[in-house]
Amino acid sequence: MDSMVELPCPICLAEGKLMMRALSTEIPYFGEHTQVTLLCDECGWRQTDFIPADGAKPGGWSICIDEASVLSARIVRSSSCTVCIPELDLEVNPGSSNAGYVTNVEGLLVRFGDVVDLIARDLLQEGDASAVERCRELSDSIAAVKNGDFSQPVNIVLLDPRGHSQILHENAEARELSGEELARLPVGPDPAIFSPDEV
Ligand SMILES: [Zn+2]
Repeated sequence: MDSMVELPCPICLAEGKLMMRALSTEIPYFGEHTQVTLLCDECGWRQTDFIPADGAKPGGWSICIDEASVLSARIVRSSSCTVCIPELDLEVNPGSSNAGYVTNVEGLLVRFGDVVDLIARDLLQEGDASAVERCRELSDSIAAVKNGDFSQPVNIVLLDPRGHSQILHENAEARELSGEELARLPVGPDPAIFSPDEV
């Protein structure tokens, strides 16, 4: 189900090029939701969001990766969600091309590992040896947890001011975001379609 959006593209500002595709499906344990994708015909920008049918979830979710079952915990990460691993000082903010996705904890660790490897490659070209070494350590720490070595457990934290993200596991802890966090957290480009109180 595609429909034109009467708004300019938030990235290239082209008029009359923005399309919205809505798809209602069921994500196991997350429940029924609508997957909404915005696409720009002009510059190729796209953003995917997951809108839970039963209303917004608490904005903050965390889980400690300290046992094998957690690696397969499902994660719904919406485009407005910041993902952190506090122990490793890693944080991925919503960016202009940051689409929402459904993955599991292991898949998220792979994504973090890829980002760290990319940064390491850039640093290597710049000849920053100590920073490259720090990246290698991070990469090793991520790989260890991913491979089931929980001697130095880390936490996955989701911070989503719009409450469209969730960790689906019995060990996952949910909480409301503080006013300070809400003020600090970016939500990515806002085409004014997903207002915080509209669900
Ligand atoms: Zn565009």
